Amino acid sequence: MAYLQLQGIEKFFGEHRAIKGIDLDIKQGEFVVFVGPSGCGKSTLLRLIAGLEHIDGGKLTLEGRDITHQPSSKRDLAMVFQSYALYPHMSVFENMSFALKLAGVDKTEINDKVKKAADILNLTPYLERTPKDLSGGQRQRVAIGRAIVRAPKVFLFDEPLSNLDAALRGQTRVEIAKLHRDLGATTIYVTHDQVEAMTLADRVVVLRDGLIEQVGTPLELYDRPANQFVAQFIGTPQMNVVSHKLWPQAIGQQAPSAAREGAVGLRPENVIVRGGSEGGFRAKVDLVEALGAETLIYVSTDEGAQFVARQSERTPLRLGDSVNVNVALEHAHWFDREGRLATPQPSSSTAQATA
Ligand code: ATP
Repeated sequence: MAYLQLQGIEKFFGEHRAIKGIDLDIKQGEFVVFVGPSGCGKSTLLRLIAGLEHIDGGKLTLEGRDITHQPSSKRDLAMVFQSYALYPHMSVFENMSFALKLAGVDKTEINDKVKKAADILNLTPYLERTPKDLSGGQRQRVAIGRAIVRAPKVFLFDEPLSNLDAALRGQTRVEIAKLHRDLGATTIYVTHDQVEAMTLADRVVVLRDGLIEQVGTPLELYDRPANQFVAQFIGTPQMNVVSHKLWPQAIGQQAPSAAREGAVGLRPENVIVRGGSEGGFRAKVDLVEALGAETLIYVSTDEGAQFVARQSERTPLRLGDSVNVNVALEHAHWFDREGRLATPQPSSSTAQATA
């Protein structure tokens, strides 16, 4: 049975239907990440669950209890914001204990809970400091600690790492994953960063324009995207999507009929670029990015088809070099004109696509 269940959830801002009927079942202990481009409605959906926005249509239940129109304070959920929202004049201890104090919890119990949370979050040395004397990462941990002490039924995170620099982001991401493993708490996490989504989530919900495009485990979305939008949203660098008008001949020969006016999608690791002129189709090198552990090679054909290839070996190739390109068409994703998945072609061996 679903722990948290969304049924036909809708939200209007004036005439604008920002959330267009969302159905989603979340299991107890699950880590669910909402991703999508700016304006797709992920923060609004989180705020509807939190009770910070009024739900205009549909039903929200937690453990079978209808909480659609319950005030936020009665929902047993705790939200962690991007902006931390700490009280600047209070110490870390006071910030973390504030909600419990308001709820009239016994002093000894408050002390125990705050100490335990501080211990989990490595905040024990900082309990007497005020937020201004903490780093961004430490402030965010206080905000998380404030949520933990309340022992909510569901944790809600709204882009909690976006104010941190890249190194701290990576580090705090690992801490959040560890925290989830230790506490086993049901968590919903909003981000526009698909790397965060892929690394943290049990399941990812990809949203676009107030609707769900696909729900699945990170690797399901990577390996079997439901459409071109999800295919290009998940994965860095983006999946190569090449329109039928620009296909080298051999790609066109392999295309299922439903994709003949659409596009082919190939992950960068399924594109192999080599110097010389044997096999494959011809292209020129536009850019080489040597990242150390991997190398990205950007190429284009005379017809204007562009591909990026990812390889673990380094390369002597340079800008302007002529190369031949082989594509592993057995891993191709075929899309129709509307970007929907076209019926996959029965598997063929690695195509030595010859123009
Ligand atoms: P971002 O990643 O940029 O934060 P998001 O996916 O979280 O985007 P939302 O903030 O949920 O998107 O916004 C969804 C849509 O609802 C957008 O079109 C936005 O302009 C609109 N919207 C959000 N809040 C309000 C509001 N208070 N009043 C009017 N429109 C709003």
